[in-house]
Amino acid sequence: MTDHKQFRAIRGTRDILPPDSSLWNWFERTARGVFESFNFREIRTPIFELTDLFARAVGADTDIVGKEMFTFEDRGAGILDVTKFSLNLDSLAQLEEAMKRGELANSERNRTVVSELRMNTIELSEVTEKITSAIREGKIELIQQYLPQSNRLSEQCNTLRQLIQFGDVLSLRPEATASVVRAHIEHGMHNLPGNQKLYYVGPMFRRERPQKGRYRQFYQIGAEVLGPSDAPGIDAEVIEMLLVLFNRVGLTRTTLYVNSIGCKECRPKYVELLREELRKVKDRLGADSQRRIETNPLRVLDSKLPEEQEIIATLPRISDHLCDACREHFAKLKDELNLRGIAYQENWRLVRGLDYYTRTTFEVTSEGLGSQNAVCGGGRYDGLVELLGGPPTKGIGFAIGTDRAILSIQEGGHLPKLPGLDVFVAWMGAKCYTTAVGIARKLRDAGLAVELPAEEMKFKKSLGLADKLGARSALIIGEDEVASGTFTLKRLADSEQKKLTESELLIHLESERKGETLGRYA
Ligand code: AMP
Repeated sequence: MTDHKQFRAIRGTRDILPPDSSLWNWFERTARGVFESFNFREIRTPIFELTDLFARAVGADTDIVGKEMFTFEDRGAGILDVTKFSLNLDSLAQLEEAMKRGELANSERNRTVVSELRMNTIELSEVTEKITSAIREGKIELIQQYLPQSNRLSEQCNTLRQLIQFGDVLSLRPEATASVVRAHIEHGMHNLPGNQKLYYVGPMFRRERPQKGRYRQFYQIGAEVLGPSDAPGIDAEVIEMLLVLFNRVGLTRTTLYVNSIGCKECRPKYVELLREELRKVKDRLGADSQRRIETNPLRVLDSKLPEEQEIIATLPRISDHLCDACREHFAKLKDELNLRGIAYQENWRLVRGLDYYTRTTFEVTSEGLGSQNAVCGGGRYDGLVELLGGPPTKGIGFAIGTDRAILSIQEGGHLPKLPGLDVFVAWMGAKCYTTAVGIARKLRDAGLAVELPAEEMKFKKSLGLADKLGARSALIIGEDEVASGTFTLKRLADSEQKKLTESELLIHLESERKGETLGRYA
Protein backbone atom coordinates (compact mmCIF):
# COMPACT_ATOMS: atom_id res chain seq x y z
CA MET A 1 0.00 0.00 0.00
CA THR A 2 1.29 3.49 -0.80
CA ASP A 3 1.81 5.76 2.17
CA HIS A 4 0.33 9.16 1.35
CA LYS A 5 1.79 10.87 4.39
CA GLN A 6 2.65 14.50 3.63
CA PHE A 7 5.96 15.42 5.20
CA ARG A 8 6.16 18.93 6.58
CA ALA A 9 8.90 21.00 8.18
CA ILE A 10 9.05 20.35 11.94
CA ARG A 11 7.12 22.86 14.04
CA GLY A 12 9.34 25.83 14.81
CA THR A 13 11.53 25.26 11.74
CA ARG A 14 10.90 26.66 8.28
CA ASP A 15 12.09 26.74 4.72
CA ILE A 16 13.49 29.96 3.37
CA LEU A 17 12.53 30.06 -0.28
CA PRO A 18 13.36 32.40 -3.15
CA PRO A 19 12.93 35.33 -3.37
CA ASP A 20 13.27 35.61 0.45
CA SER A 21 16.53 33.67 0.32
CA SER A 22 18.00 36.46 -1.87
CA LEU A 23 17.09 38.95 0.83
CA TRP A 24 18.73 36.72 3.45
CA ASN A 25 21.89 36.39 1.35
CA TRP A 26 22.03 40.11 0.80
CA PHE A 27 21.63 40.73 4.56
CA GLU A 28 24.39 38.26 5.42
CA ARG A 29 26.63 39.64 2.65
CA THR A 30 26.15 43.16 3.94
CA ALA A 31 26.92 42.05 7.51
CA ARG A 32 30.13 40.35 6.38
CA GLY A 33 31.15 43.51 4.51
CA VAL A 34 30.45 45.81 7.46
CA PHE A 35 32.13 43.51 10.01
CA GLU A 36 35.19 43.07 7.83
CA SER A 37 35.45 46.85 7.48
CA PHE A 38 35.84 46.89 11.29
CA ASN A 39 38.56 44.21 10.92
CA PHE A 40 36.45 41.32 12.21
CA ARG A 41 37.02 37.92 10.60
CA GLU A 42 34.76 34.92 10.37
CA ILE A 43 34.95 31.92 12.68
CA ARG A 44 32.96 28.76 11.88
CA THR A 45 32.33 26.42 14.76
CA PRO A 46 30.37 23.13 14.81
CA ILE A 47 26.63 23.24 15.42
CA PHE A 48 26.88 20.72 18.26
CA GLU A 49 29.10 20.58 21.30
CA LEU A 50 29.27 18.81 24.64
CA THR A 51 26.16 19.72 26.62
CA ASP A 52 28.47 20.54 29.52
CA LEU A 53 29.99 23.42 27.55
CA PHE A 54 26.62 25.19 27.36
CA ALA A 55 25.69 24.25 30.92
CA ARG A 56 28.93 25.77 32.18
CA ALA A 57 28.97 28.87 29.95
CA VAL A 58 25.31 29.83 29.61
CA GLY A 59 24.38 28.60 33.10
CA ALA A 60 22.61 25.47 34.31
CA ASP A 61 19.78 27.55 35.87
CA THR A 62 18.92 29.47 32.72
CA ASP A 63 15.81 28.67 30.66
CA ILE A 64 18.01 27.89 27.67
CA VAL A 65 20.00 25.15 29.38
CA GLY A 66 17.28 24.07 31.79
CA LYS A 67 14.59 23.34 29.23
CA GLU A 68 15.33 24.52 25.71
CA MET A 69 18.29 22.53 24.42
CA PHE A 70 18.07 19.73 21.87
CA THR A 71 20.19 17.15 23.63
CA PHE A 72 21.13 13.66 22.52
CA GLU A 73 23.54 10.93 23.44
CA ASP A 74 26.27 10.12 20.99
CA ARG A 75 26.96 6.48 20.15
CA GLY A 76 30.01 4.99 21.81
CA ALA A 77 32.89 3.67 19.74
CA GLY A 78 34.93 0.44 19.58
CA ILE A 79 34.84 -1.92 22.57
CA LEU A 80 32.34 0.30 24.33
CA ASP A 81 29.68 -0.11 21.69
CA VAL A 82 26.43 -0.84 23.54
CA THR A 83 25.54 -3.67 21.17
CA LYS A 84 28.79 -5.53 21.89
CA PHE A 85 28.95 -5.02 25.63
CA SER A 86 28.40 -8.11 27.82
CA LEU A 87 27.97 -7.83 31.54
CA ASN A 88 30.44 -9.24 34.08
CA LEU A 89 32.88 -7.88 36.66
CA ASP A 90 35.67 -7.65 34.07
CA SER A 91 33.59 -5.58 31.68
CA LEU A 92 32.52 -3.31 34.57
CA ALA A 93 36.19 -2.72 35.40
CA GLN A 94 36.72 -1.93 31.73
CA LEU A 95 33.92 0.63 31.87
CA GLU A 96 35.45 2.28 34.91
CA GLU A 97 38.84 2.46 33.19
CA ALA A 98 37.21 3.92 30.08
CA MET A 99 35.51 6.55 32.23
CA LYS A 100 38.87 7.50 33.74
CA ARG A 101 40.43 7.77 30.28
CA GLY A 102 37.56 9.97 29.13
CA GLU A 103 36.42 7.45 26.48
CA LEU A 104 33.12 6.96 28.26
CA ALA A 105 31.18 9.93 29.66
CA ASN A 106 32.38 10.32 33.26
CA SER A 107 28.95 11.55 34.27
CA GLU A 108 27.11 11.33 37.56
CA ARG A 109 24.66 8.95 35.91
CA ASN A 110 27.35 6.59 34.64
CA ARG A 111 29.13 6.50 37.99
CA THR A 112 25.90 5.63 39.81
CA VAL A 113 24.84 3.04 37.24
CA VAL A 114 28.23 1.29 37.24
CA SER A 115 28.38 1.09 41.05
CA GLU A 116 24.82 -0.35 41.23
CA LEU A 117 25.66 -2.78 38.45
CA ARG A 118 28.72 -3.93 40.36
CA MET A 119 26.61 -4.68 43.49
CA ASN A 120 23.96 -6.47 41.45
CA THR A 121 26.51 -8.47 39.49
CA ILE A 122 28.25 -9.66 42.65
CA GLU A 123 24.91 -10.62 44.21
CA LEU A 124 23.86 -12.36 41.00
CA SER A 125 27.04 -14.45 40.82
CA GLU A 126 26.56 -15.52 44.47
CA VAL A 127 22.99 -16.61 43.77
CA THR A 128 24.09 -18.39 40.58
CA GLU A 129 26.70 -20.31 42.56
CA LYS A 130 24.08 -21.35 45.13
CA ILE A 131 21.78 -22.56 42.35
CA THR A 132 24.64 -24.51 40.73
CA SER A 133 25.47 -26.37 43.94
CA ALA A 134 21.76 -27.02 44.63
CA ILE A 135 21.50 -28.60 41.17
CA ARG A 136 24.61 -30.65 41.87
CA GLU A 137 23.14 -31.84 45.15
CA GLY A 138 19.67 -32.36 43.62
CA LYS A 139 17.98 -30.01 46.11
CA ILE A 140 14.92 -29.03 44.12
CA GLU A 141 13.36 -26.88 46.85
CA LEU A 142 16.56 -24.78 47.12
CA ILE A 143 16.60 -24.27 43.37
CA GLN A 144 12.98 -23.09 43.52
CA GLN A 145 13.88 -20.73 46.35
CA TYR A 146 16.82 -19.06 44.54
CA LEU A 147 15.45 -18.89 41.02
CA PRO A 148 13.08 -15.88 41.50
CA GLN A 149 15.92 -13.91 43.14
CA SER A 150 18.23 -14.75 40.26
CA ASN A 151 15.61 -13.69 37.69
CA ARG A 152 14.95 -10.40 39.50
CA LEU A 153 18.67 -9.59 39.66
CA SER A 154 19.24 -10.32 35.96
CA GLU A 155 16.29 -8.15 35.07
CA GLN A 156 17.64 -5.32 37.20
CA CYS A 157 21.06 -5.71 35.59
CA ASN A 158 19.52 -5.48 32.15
CA THR A 159 17.57 -2.36 33.05
CA LEU A 160 20.64 -0.71 34.55
CA ARG A 161 22.70 -1.68 31.55
CA GLN A 162 20.32 0.27 29.30
CA LEU A 163 21.01 3.35 31.39
CA ILE A 164 24.75 3.49 30.67
CA GLN A 165 25.64 6.47 28.55
CA PHE A 166 28.06 4.93 26.10
CA GLY A 167 28.59 8.14 24.19
CA ASP A 168 29.02 11.78 25.11
CA VAL A 169 25.98 13.89 25.84
CA LEU A 170 25.77 16.51 23.12
CA SER A 171 23.50 19.45 22.37
CA LEU A 172 22.70 21.47 19.29
CA ARG A 173 24.07 24.93 19.98
CA PRO A 174 21.49 27.30 21.46
CA GLU A 175 23.91 30.20 20.93
CA ALA A 176 27.47 30.56 19.67
CA THR A 177 29.45 32.52 22.25
CA ALA A 178 30.27 29.37 24.24
CA SER A 179 31.62 27.70 21.08
CA VAL A 180 33.66 30.74 20.08
CA VAL A 181 35.21 30.90 23.54
CA ARG A 182 35.87 27.15 23.49
CA ALA A 183 37.61 27.49 20.11
CA HIS A 184 39.58 30.53 21.33
CA ILE A 185 40.95 28.47 24.21
CA GLU A 186 41.46 25.27 22.20
CA HIS A 187 43.54 27.03 19.55
CA GLY A 188 45.51 29.20 21.96
CA MET A 189 44.22 32.33 20.25
CA HIS A 190 45.21 34.45 23.27
CA ASN A 191 48.79 34.11 21.93
CA LEU A 192 47.86 35.98 18.77
CA PRO A 193 48.60 39.73 18.68
CA GLY A 194 45.95 42.21 19.81
CA ASN A 195 42.30 41.51 20.39
CA GLN A 196 40.67 38.69 18.47
CA LYS A 197 37.74 40.15 16.54
CA LEU A 198 35.55 37.34 15.28
CA TYR A 199 32.13 37.04 13.70
CA TYR A 200 29.89 34.09 12.93
CA VAL A 201 26.80 33.41 10.83
CA GLY A 202 24.57 30.38 11.24
CA PRO A 203 21.66 28.50 12.76
CA MET A 204 20.95 28.13 16.50
CA PHE A 205 18.48 25.76 18.13
CA ARG A 206 16.19 26.27 21.11
CA ARG A 207 13.13 24.24 22.03
CA GLU A 208 10.91 27.28 22.54
CA ARG A 209 7.21 27.74 22.01
CA PRO A 210 7.08 28.83 18.36
CA GLN A 211 5.37 32.09 17.46
CA LYS A 212 5.96 35.00 15.07
CA GLY A 213 9.67 35.87 15.31
CA ARG A 214 10.42 32.92 17.57
CA TYR A 215 11.55 29.65 16.06
CA ARG A 216 13.21 26.45 17.19
CA GLN A 217 15.80 26.72 14.47
CA PHE A 218 16.67 30.36 14.01
CA TYR A 219 19.66 32.22 12.63
CA GLN A 220 22.11 34.57 14.20
CA ILE A 221 24.89 36.80 13.00
CA GLY A 222 27.13 37.60 15.89
CA ALA A 223 30.47 39.13 16.74
CA GLU A 224 32.87 38.69 19.63
CA VAL A 225 36.00 40.56 20.76
CA LEU A 226 38.31 38.52 22.98
CA GLY A 227 41.56 39.83 24.36
CA PRO A 228 43.45 41.50 27.15
CA SER A 229 41.57 44.80 27.17
CA ASP A 230 38.13 45.74 28.48
CA ALA A 231 38.36 49.38 27.35
CA PRO A 232 34.84 50.87 27.01
CA GLY A 233 35.87 52.00 23.52
CA ILE A 234 35.70 48.32 22.48
CA ASP A 235 32.12 48.06 23.75
CA ALA A 236 31.21 51.24 21.90
CA GLU A 237 32.87 50.12 18.67
CA VAL A 238 30.99 46.82 18.75
CA ILE A 239 27.72 48.71 19.19
CA GLU A 240 28.71 51.17 16.46
CA MET A 241 29.42 48.28 14.06
CA LEU A 242 26.02 46.79 14.74
CA LEU A 243 24.28 50.09 14.10
CA VAL A 244 26.28 50.74 10.92
CA LEU A 245 24.93 47.40 9.66
CA PHE A 246 21.35 48.21 10.68
CA ASN A 247 21.64 51.56 8.98
CA ARG A 248 23.02 50.03 5.80
CA VAL A 249 20.20 47.50 5.54
CA GLY A 250 17.54 50.11 6.28
CA LEU A 251 16.71 48.83 9.77
CA THR A 252 16.30 52.29 11.20
CA ARG A 253 13.17 52.15 13.33
CA THR A 254 15.22 50.77 16.18
CA THR A 255 16.04 51.66 19.78
CA LEU A 256 19.32 50.86 21.52
CA TYR A 257 19.11 50.11 25.23
CA VAL A 258 22.21 49.93 27.41
CA ASN A 259 22.88 48.97 31.00
CA SER A 260 25.66 47.82 33.29
CA ILE A 261 25.03 44.82 35.48
CA GLY A 262 28.24 45.12 37.48
CA CYS A 263 31.03 42.62 38.02
CA LYS A 264 31.78 39.77 40.39
CA GLU A 265 32.71 42.34 43.05
CA CYS A 266 29.49 44.34 43.15
CA ARG A 267 26.83 42.18 41.50
CA PRO A 268 26.51 39.44 44.16
CA LYS A 269 25.78 42.09 46.83
CA TYR A 270 23.15 43.68 44.60
CA VAL A 271 21.60 40.29 43.78
CA GLU A 272 21.35 39.50 47.50
CA LEU A 273 19.70 42.86 48.18
CA LEU A 274 17.30 42.28 45.29
CA ARG A 275 16.48 38.80 46.61
CA GLU A 276 15.70 40.22 50.08
CA GLU A 277 13.43 42.89 48.60
CA LEU A 278 11.71 40.34 46.35
CA ARG A 279 11.04 37.99 49.25
CA LYS A 280 9.11 40.84 50.92
CA VAL A 281 6.75 41.10 47.92
CA LYS A 282 6.77 37.42 46.99
CA ASP A 283 3.00 36.96 47.44
CA ARG A 284 2.25 39.61 44.84
CA LEU A 285 4.42 37.99 42.15
CA GLY A 286 3.57 35.31 39.59
CA ALA A 287 4.83 31.72 39.83
CA ASP A 288 7.82 32.25 37.50
CA SER A 289 9.08 35.26 39.38
CA GLN A 290 8.51 33.54 42.74
CA ARG A 291 10.74 30.69 41.59
CA ARG A 292 13.36 33.08 40.23
CA ILE A 293 13.72 34.86 43.58
CA GLU A 294 15.77 31.88 44.67
CA THR A 295 17.27 30.67 41.36
CA ASN A 296 18.06 33.87 39.47
CA PRO A 297 16.52 37.06 40.95
CA LEU A 298 17.92 39.30 38.18
CA ARG A 299 15.60 37.56 35.74
CA VAL A 300 12.57 38.93 37.63
CA LEU A 301 13.53 42.32 36.18
CA ASP A 302 12.93 40.84 32.70
CA SER A 303 9.29 40.10 33.50
CA LYS A 304 6.70 41.37 31.06
CA LEU A 305 3.69 40.49 33.28
CA PRO A 306 1.55 43.68 33.56
CA GLU A 307 0.66 43.03 37.21
CA GLU A 308 4.33 42.85 38.22
CA GLN A 309 5.45 46.10 36.61
CA GLU A 310 4.45 48.40 39.46
CA ILE A 311 6.28 46.22 41.99
CA ILE A 312 9.41 45.96 39.86
CA ALA A 313 9.53 49.76 39.50
CA THR A 314 10.09 50.06 43.26
CA LEU A 315 12.97 47.56 43.44
CA PRO A 316 16.56 48.67 44.06
CA ARG A 317 18.45 49.53 40.89
CA ILE A 318 21.87 48.14 40.00
CA SER A 319 23.13 51.58 38.95
CA ASP A 320 22.98 52.64 42.62
CA HIS A 321 25.04 49.61 43.64
CA LEU A 322 27.87 49.44 41.09
CA CYS A 323 31.42 49.44 42.45
CA ASP A 324 33.61 52.44 41.50
CA ALA A 325 35.35 50.57 38.66
CA CYS A 326 32.05 49.45 37.10
CA ARG A 327 30.49 52.90 37.50
CA GLU A 328 33.48 54.46 35.76
CA HIS A 329 33.39 51.84 32.98
CA PHE A 330 29.70 52.53 32.34
CA ALA A 331 30.21 56.32 32.36
CA LYS A 332 33.05 55.97 29.84
CA LEU A 333 30.94 53.70 27.64
CA LYS A 334 28.31 56.43 27.47
CA ASP A 335 30.99 59.02 26.60
CA GLU A 336 32.26 56.73 23.85
CA LEU A 337 28.75 56.30 22.46
CA ASN A 338 28.24 60.08 22.48
CA LEU A 339 31.57 60.51 20.71
CA ARG A 340 30.21 58.32 17.89
CA GLY A 341 26.87 60.15 17.78
CA ILE A 342 25.01 57.02 18.89
CA ALA A 343 21.62 57.60 20.52
CA TYR A 344 20.74 55.22 23.36
CA GLN A 345 18.39 54.78 26.26
CA GLU A 346 19.49 53.49 29.63
CA ASN A 347 17.41 50.59 30.86
CA TRP A 348 18.26 49.42 34.35
CA ARG A 349 16.10 46.32 33.86
CA LEU A 350 18.17 45.02 30.95
CA VAL A 351 19.87 42.05 32.59
CA ARG A 352 19.74 39.51 29.73
CA GLY A 353 19.02 35.87 30.35
CA LEU A 354 22.46 34.33 30.32
CA ASP A 355 24.75 33.91 33.29
CA TYR A 356 27.97 34.99 31.67
CA TYR A 357 27.33 38.72 31.29
CA THR A 358 29.26 41.31 33.32
CA ARG A 359 29.14 45.11 33.15
CA THR A 360 27.86 46.25 29.73
CA THR A 361 24.62 44.74 28.45
CA PHE A 362 22.72 46.06 25.45
CA GLU A 363 19.78 45.26 23.28
CA VAL A 364 18.28 46.69 20.11
CA THR A 365 14.55 46.51 19.55
CA SER A 366 12.79 47.18 16.29
CA GLU A 367 9.28 48.41 15.57
CA GLY A 368 6.70 46.25 13.85
CA LEU A 369 7.70 42.95 15.40
CA GLY A 370 5.07 42.61 18.12
CA SER A 371 6.10 40.99 21.37
CA GLN A 372 9.32 39.43 20.00
CA ASN A 373 10.85 42.78 19.16
CA ALA A 374 14.50 42.28 20.20
CA VAL A 375 16.62 42.08 17.05
CA CYS A 376 19.96 42.00 18.81
CA GLY A 377 21.30 41.33 22.26
CA GLY A 378 24.79 41.47 23.63
CA GLY A 379 27.12 42.31 26.42
CA ARG A 380 30.47 41.92 28.10
CA TYR A 381 31.53 38.56 29.49
CA ASP A 382 34.86 39.07 31.28
CA GLY A 383 35.58 35.86 33.16
CA LEU A 384 33.89 33.43 30.76
CA VAL A 385 37.20 32.34 29.22
CA GLU A 386 38.58 31.51 32.67
CA LEU A 387 35.35 29.71 33.57
CA LEU A 388 35.89 27.44 30.56
CA GLY A 389 39.50 26.75 31.51
CA GLY A 390 41.35 29.45 29.55
CA PRO A 391 43.74 32.20 30.64
CA PRO A 392 42.43 35.56 31.97
CA THR A 393 40.76 37.21 28.98
CA LYS A 394 38.13 39.91 28.52
CA GLY A 395 35.25 39.52 26.12
CA ILE A 396 32.29 41.30 24.60
CA GLY A 397 29.89 40.35 21.85
CA PHE A 398 26.41 40.45 20.40
CA ALA A 399 24.06 38.29 18.39
CA ILE A 400 21.60 39.62 15.83
CA GLY A 401 18.50 37.51 15.24
CA THR A 402 18.50 37.30 11.44
CA ASP A 403 14.91 36.01 11.22
CA ARG A 404 13.65 39.04 13.11
CA ALA A 405 15.92 41.51 11.31
CA ILE A 406 14.58 40.24 7.97
CA LEU A 407 10.97 40.37 9.22
CA SER A 408 11.51 43.93 10.34
CA ILE A 409 13.02 44.94 6.99
CA GLN A 410 10.05 43.35 5.23
CA GLU A 411 7.54 45.04 7.56
CA GLY A 412 9.29 48.39 7.00
CA GLY A 413 8.67 47.99 3.28
CA HIS A 414 12.08 49.36 2.23
CA LEU A 415 13.27 46.33 0.36
CA PRO A 416 16.53 46.54 -1.54
CA LYS A 417 16.51 46.29 -5.32
CA LEU A 418 18.37 43.05 -5.76
CA PRO A 419 19.64 41.90 -9.14
CA GLY A 420 17.46 39.23 -10.71
CA LEU A 421 17.56 37.41 -14.02
CA ASP A 422 19.46 39.48 -16.59
CA VAL A 423 18.89 37.60 -19.82
CA PHE A 424 16.49 34.98 -21.12
CA VAL A 425 17.93 33.36 -24.24
CA ALA A 426 15.03 32.82 -26.66
CA TRP A 427 16.48 30.49 -29.30
CA MET A 428 14.54 29.00 -32.19
CA GLY A 429 15.59 26.18 -34.50
CA ALA A 430 17.90 23.29 -33.68
CA LYS A 431 20.73 24.91 -35.67
CA CYS A 432 20.76 27.90 -33.29
CA TYR A 433 21.13 25.86 -30.13
CA THR A 434 24.94 25.62 -30.36
CA THR A 435 25.23 29.41 -30.72
CA ALA A 436 22.78 29.90 -27.82
CA VAL A 437 24.80 27.61 -25.53
CA GLY A 438 28.04 29.43 -26.46
CA ILE A 439 26.61 32.91 -25.88
CA ALA A 440 24.98 31.87 -22.58
CA ARG A 441 28.39 30.66 -21.35
CA LYS A 442 30.06 33.97 -22.27
CA LEU A 443 27.36 36.05 -20.60
CA ARG A 444 27.53 33.92 -17.46
CA ASP A 445 31.33 34.20 -17.41
CA ALA A 446 30.83 37.97 -17.45
CA GLY A 447 28.76 37.65 -14.25
CA LEU A 448 25.29 37.95 -15.73
CA ALA A 449 22.37 35.74 -14.66
CA VAL A 450 21.19 33.86 -17.73
CA GLU A 451 18.30 31.45 -18.32
CA LEU A 452 18.72 29.13 -21.30
CA PRO A 453 15.73 26.88 -22.06
CA ALA A 454 16.88 23.30 -22.65
CA GLU A 455 14.09 22.63 -25.11
CA GLU A 456 13.02 24.61 -28.11
CA MET A 457 10.02 26.87 -27.55
CA LYS A 458 7.70 28.84 -29.80
CA PHE A 459 8.73 32.53 -29.97
CA LYS A 460 5.63 33.85 -28.18
CA LYS A 461 5.79 31.26 -25.44
CA SER A 462 9.47 31.95 -24.97
CA LEU A 463 8.94 35.68 -24.47
CA GLY A 464 5.96 35.00 -22.22
CA LEU A 465 8.12 32.83 -19.96
CA ALA A 466 10.94 35.41 -19.99
CA ASP A 467 8.46 37.97 -18.71
CA LYS A 468 7.05 35.66 -16.02
CA LEU A 469 10.56 34.87 -14.78
CA GLY A 470 11.20 38.60 -14.41
CA ALA A 471 14.05 38.70 -16.92
CA ARG A 472 15.38 42.15 -17.72
CA SER A 473 15.98 41.31 -21.38
CA ALA A 474 15.32 38.57 -23.89
CA LEU A 475 18.07 37.69 -26.34
CA ILE A 476 16.58 36.45 -29.57
CA ILE A 477 18.63 33.89 -31.49
CA GLY A 478 17.10 32.61 -34.74
CA GLU A 479 18.63 31.36 -37.96
CA ASP A 480 18.91 34.90 -39.41
CA GLU A 481 20.77 36.11 -36.32
CA VAL A 482 23.21 33.21 -36.42
CA ALA A 483 23.85 33.84 -40.14
CA SER A 484 24.40 37.60 -39.71
CA GLY A 485 26.26 37.46 -36.36
CA THR A 486 24.00 40.17 -34.87
CA PHE A 487 21.41 39.43 -32.21
CA THR A 488 18.26 41.14 -31.08
CA LEU A 489 18.11 42.18 -27.47
CA LYS A 490 14.65 43.07 -26.29
CA ARG A 491 14.24 45.01 -23.03
CA LEU A 492 11.12 43.58 -21.48
CA ALA A 493 10.11 46.60 -19.40
CA ASP A 494 9.47 48.79 -22.46
CA SER A 495 9.96 46.38 -25.41
CA GLU A 496 12.85 48.48 -26.75
CA GLN A 497 14.93 46.40 -29.17
CA LYS A 498 18.59 46.68 -30.14
CA LYS A 499 20.58 44.80 -32.77
CA LEU A 500 24.03 43.98 -31.40
CA THR A 501 27.06 41.88 -32.30
CA GLU A 502 28.32 39.43 -29.67
CA SER A 503 30.99 41.80 -28.36
CA GLU A 504 28.60 44.78 -28.33
CA LEU A 505 26.10 42.63 -26.50
CA LEU A 506 28.50 41.91 -23.65
CA ILE A 507 29.50 45.55 -23.23
CA HIS A 508 25.89 46.69 -23.40
CA LEU A 509 24.53 44.17 -20.88
CA GLU A 510 27.35 44.73 -18.41
CA SER A 511 26.96 48.48 -18.41
CA GLU A 512 23.20 48.13 -18.19
CA ARG A 513 23.54 45.89 -15.16
CA LYS A 514 25.88 48.29 -13.43
CA GLY A 515 23.68 51.33 -13.88
CA GLU A 516 20.43 49.47 -13.75
CA THR A 517 18.54 49.07 -10.49
CA LEU A 518 15.52 47.56 -12.12
CA GLY A 519 15.74 44.69 -9.63
CA ARG A 520 13.10 42.04 -9.64
CA TYR A 521 12.96 41.27 -5.95
CA ALA A 522 9.48 41.12 -4.41
P1 AMP B 1 19.95 35.84 22.82
O1 AMP B 1 21.04 34.87 22.50
O2 AMP B 1 18.78 35.20 23.50
O3 AMP B 1 20.43 37.08 23.42
O4 AMP B 1 19.37 36.23 21.40
C1 AMP B 1 19.94 37.18 20.55
C2 AMP B 1 18.97 37.49 19.45
O5 AMP B 1 18.64 36.28 18.75
C3 AMP B 1 17.61 37.99 19.95
O6 AMP B 1 17.63 39.38 20.12
C4 AMP B 1 16.69 37.57 18.84
O7 AMP B 1 16.70 38.53 17.81
C5 AMP B 1 17.30 36.29 18.34
N1 AMP B 1 16.60 35.11 18.89
C6 AMP B 1 16.75 34.50 20.09
N2 AMP B 1 15.94 33.44 20.21
C7 AMP B 1 15.25 33.36 19.07
C8 AMP B 1 14.24 32.46 18.55
N3 AMP B 1 13.81 31.41 19.25
N4 AMP B 1 13.75 32.69 17.30
C9 AMP B 1 14.18 33.73 16.56
N5 AMP B 1 15.13 34.60 16.98
C10 AMP B 1 15.65 34.42 18.21
